[in-house]
Amino acid sequence: MAPHTEQLTRPTVRLRDLTRSFDGRTVLDGIDLNLPAGQFTALLGHSGSGKSTLLRAIAGLDHEVVGSGHLTAPERVSVVFQDSRLLPWRRVLDNVLLGTEGREAAERGRAALAEVGLAGRERAWPNELSGGEAQRAALARSLVREPELLLADEPFGALDALTRIKMHGLLRELWKRHRPTVLLVTHDVDEAIVLADRVLVLDQGRIGLDLTIDRPHPRSYRDPLLGEYRERL
Ligand code: ADP
Ligand code: MG
Repeated sequence: MAPHTEQLTRPTVRLRDLTRSFDGRTVLDGIDLNLPAGQFTALLGHSGSGKSTLLRAIAGLDHEVVGSGHLTAPERVSVVFQDSRLLPWRRVLDNVLLGTEGREAAERGRAALAEVGLAGRERAWPNELSGGEAQRAALARSLVREPELLLADEPFGALDALTRIKMHGLLRELWKRHRPTVLLVTHDVDEAIVLADRVLVLDQGRIGLDLTIDRPHPRSYRDPLLGEYRERL
């Protein structure tokens, strides 16, 4: 991870006039966006508003982003999706280590699994994990790459409400410890406010709202600040 001073000055993602159309239909319509290093941002928007399209573009997974769109993003990017995308024929640790090399990587993999609460499950098969555990493993797999940028596309969308709240605590804790730049796509307004320091709303192909969640940051769903922010969204 980059030195802290550098993190404070350098935006991790810089988008200028990013445009994406499908069959002549414009989904992203000239997006301008900076994600400062180390910031935790949530991206809201109704279904079909283009959240996943934007995330894929930032991840470098979309080679058809067109127009005068300009994008700079860091090299070490991890992406977490709604489903864990663990390979069923590999054990949990092997999934976490996929694409990494060496003895030291194995150590980091074990440490990452311990960090997400999966110590002792290294040799389990993915189908032996619950949905929440599988997402923990997916987070461990992303951590082991020491990402500068962590992109998450509704990572908790398929989990039950109680598990989701546990995962919120875990994600915020991991972010505090490692300080990657985070862009979390969600359609859960409360999740966005509790987790993020900045909330964006994607609307009609543009960032329609850009809200900073001030200190003191709402820490729980019972925090009255949450209600205030909810109204502003
Ligand atoms: P969200 O993640 O906000 O629900 P998406 O980014 O998945 O929205 O999709 C935005 C719009 O772009 C939708 O109307 C969707 O149908 C369209 N879209 C996304 N990917 C493709 C694709 N590969 N081909 C055609 N249309 C697409
Ligand atoms: Mg989506």
